[in-house]
This record gives sequence, structure tokens and C-alpha cells, in this order.
Amino acid sequence: MNCAHCGGTLTLEDMTKPNCPFCHNVLKHHAQAAEHAVLVNKIMADRFNAQYPGIPPGQIPQIGHQFGAPMNASFDQFAAHQTSQALKRAGMITVIAVVIPIVLALVIGGVAVVLMLFRM
Ligand SMILES: [Zn+2]
Repeated sequence: MNCAHCGGTLTLEDMTKPNCPFCHNVLKHHAQAAEHAVLVNKIMADRFNAQYPGIPPGQIPQIGHQFGAPMNASFDQFAAHQTSQALKRAGMITVIAVVIPIVLALVIGGVAVVLMLFRM
């Protein structure tokens, strides 16, 4: 592949870098990747804000601007946050599911005992 600015021949190694080694202009595919990243990040932010209102900006997954860059660590942060929320919710449901039957059993048992006492 040749540089779109100076026509210099680029090696595969050169193409992994954002700038042309000869004229130092930003390579076209890196510029396009950065544009796409901005667009994807904007869509991602809109979607996450719609689904999770009030979510802190640091919790919204965003991809890096560099060509071939790994995903931002906030993907993991988001997953961890959602997991902890889900665990809290599951804990509450467990408490409700266990405590209410016990309370009901005690109330019913108490009523049964009172009824038995009154019969005697
Ligand atoms: Zn060039």
C-alpha cells in the first residue's frame, strides 16, 4: 500500500502506525478508524444513557481511537457495576423470599396455638 499523501510505499509495520514514516501525515485508514470510533462512541453513549439514565460517563463503554487499539477498560467496569447491582437485587429477593414465609409460618403457627388453647 502507498501513502495517499506522498505516495511512499508502506510496509505492514508502517501501516500499524498512525502516521506515514515519510511525510508524517496521518494515514487514511487511521483517520477513518478514528472517525468511526467517534461515531461508535457517540451511539454507545446515547444508548447507554437511554437504557441506564444517570449513568456516570466513566461507566459508558468507549472504544479507543487508535487503529487496532484494544477496547477501553470501562467495558469491564460497566459489567462489574451491573453485576454488583444484580447481586444486590438478588440478595434483596432472597431476603424477601426467605423472611416472608418464616414470618407467615410464625403468624399461622401462633394463630393455630391460640386456637388450640381456646378449644381446651
Ligand atoms: Zn506519506
